[in-house]
Amino acid sequence: MLNTDENTVPINEQQIFDTLKNKVRKDEIYIREVLAKALDLKGLNEQEIASLSAVSDPDLLKEMFNTAKKVKEEIYGKRLVLFAPLYVSNLCKNECLYCAFRRSNKLVRRKALSQEEVRQEVEALVEQGHKRILLVAGESYPSEGFDYILKCIETIYSVKKGRGEIRRVNVNVAPLTLEEFKELKSAKIGTYQLFQETYHRETYGKVHIGGVKRDFDWRITAMDRAMEAGIDDVGVGILFGLFDWRFEILALMQHIRHLEKKFGVGPHTISVPRLEPAVGSELSAHPPYPVSDIDFRKIVAILRLAVPYTGIIMSTRETPNIRRETFALGVSQISAGSRTNPGGYTGREEEDMSQFSLGDHRSLDEVIYDISQLGYIPSFCTACYRLGRTGVDFMDLAKPGLIKNHCEINALTTFVEYLEDYASPPTKELGWKRIEEILSSMPEGRRNKTQKLIDRVKSGERDVFV
Ligand code: SAM
Ligand code: SF4
Repeated sequence: MLNTDENTVPINEQQIFDTLKNKVRKDEIYIREVLAKALDLKGLNEQEIASLSAVSDPDLLKEMFNTAKKVKEEIYGKRLVLFAPLYVSNLCKNECLYCAFRRSNKLVRRKALSQEEVRQEVEALVEQGHKRILLVAGESYPSEGFDYILKCIETIYSVKKGRGEIRRVNVNVAPLTLEEFKELKSAKIGTYQLFQETYHRETYGKVHIGGVKRDFDWRITAMDRAMEAGIDDVGVGILFGLFDWRFEILALMQHIRHLEKKFGVGPHTISVPRLEPAVGSELSAHPPYPVSDIDFRKIVAILRLAVPYTGIIMSTRETPNIRRETFALGVSQISAGSRTNPGGYTGREEEDMSQFSLGDHRSLDEVIYDISQLGYIPSFCTACYRLGRTGVDFMDLAKPGLIKNHCEINALTTFVEYLEDYASPPTKELGWKRIEEILSSMPEGRRNKTQKLIDRVKSGERDVFV
C-alpha cells in the first residue's frame, strides 16, 4: 500500500512485492556484476538487493561473503566497537507479543532502577572496562514520566570509578515527541536507536495488540522527529522472524532513502536482532518467519553491500559462533557481557526480569580475548560524537575512506586503556602482541604518530584521541 500521508514514511509494499516477484535476476553474470558494483562503495538498488537475497548457489554465496568482507575492511578496517546495554526499567504499557516486558505478562517481576541503583550498575560496567552504554527501557516510566530517562542519562555520565567513566550514552526508548527529542539531544546522547520491528503493516498490527506501540505511523516517523530535533545519529533496526526478511530489508532501504532525501544523511547504524525466546511469549518461541543461520549471514552481507557507510550492530542475542561469522561480513559494533534485566550487572536481580534469553554469555574480557585472536582491534572509541563528527560530517569523512584512519588509531588508544586498567593477564599478553603487530604493519609516519599516543596512555593519561 502506498501511503503518501505526511504523517508517515511512505513504504511502498506493492513495489517491494513486485520487485521480489518479477525483478529478481538469478544469472551468475548479473550477480557478479552486482558484487563488482558493490565494491565501488556506492550502495545497491532495490533490484540488486532483491537478487542478492535470492542467491543460494554455494560458490556465489562465498563470493558474496568475500565481497562483503572486502567492503567492511575497506571502510571500517579491523576495529570492532564494544558497548553494553543498560536496562533501567522493564515497566511497559504495550502488548508486543514477542516481548517478556509486555504489560499483561505476569511471569516477569517489574522494576525501575532508582538513580542510586543506576549508579551502581554503571560502576559495575565501568569496572569491567566499558566506555559506551546503550540505555534501554520499556514504554512506561516511574512517576516523573520521561524525565526519568533524562535523570538516568545524567546519572550515567556523572559516574567516575577508578580511571574510568562512560563517555557515550546511546538510547533505545519508545518514540518521543519533538519536544522530548530536543530534551534528549540536550542530555548529550550519542545515537537514538529504535527498531521498526516489522515494516509490514498488517504483521505489525497482528503482533502489537495493545498500547501506543500499536500505531505503526507514530513509530516509523520517530526518526524524522529525532532528526528534526537535531539528533544527527539515529539507529534503525528490524526484529527478524516476524515477517519475510527479503521484504523487510527492501522496506528498510525505503526508510533509509526517505531519511537521506529529507535530511541529507541516512541512519548511523542498523541493528539486526533475531527473535529470541522470551519468558511468557509463545510467539518468540515459534517465530512466524524464522531466519536460518545462513540467511542471517546473508542479511548482514547484503546490508554491508547495500549501505556500506552505515554501522551494523550485533547483540549478544546471537551465539559466539554466529557473532564471529558475521564480524567478518560487515558488523562494526557489538555488545559484550550483556544482561537484559534491570539490576543485572550488580547481580542482585534474577533472570525472571529479563527481556529475552541471550546467546552469548561470555564476559567482556573473554569477548575481547576472542576478537583479538581473530585479528580485530577491540575499540571503546567515542571520539566522533564528542568532536561533533556526527550525521553529515561523519559521512563526509567516511565516504572518502578517511574515517578508517581515525578509527584505527582511536581503537588502539582505547584498547591500550583497557589492557592497562582492566584486562586479565592472558588478554593483556595477547592484546599487546596484537598491538605490536598492527603498529609494525603501519607506514612509518602513521606508526610514529600512533606510538606517541599509545605512550601517553601508557604513562597514565586517559581519553586520548584524534
Ligand atoms: N520499549 C522500547 C521499544 O519497544 O521500542 C525500547 C526497548 S525494547 C526493550 C528494545 C527492542 O528489543 C525492541 O525494539 C525489540 O526489537 C527487541 N525485542 C523485544 N523482544 C525480543 C525478543 N523476544 N527477542 C529479540 N529481541 C526482542
Ligand atoms: Fe514494551 Fe518495548 Fe517490550 Fe514492546 S518491545 S513490550 S514496547 S519493552
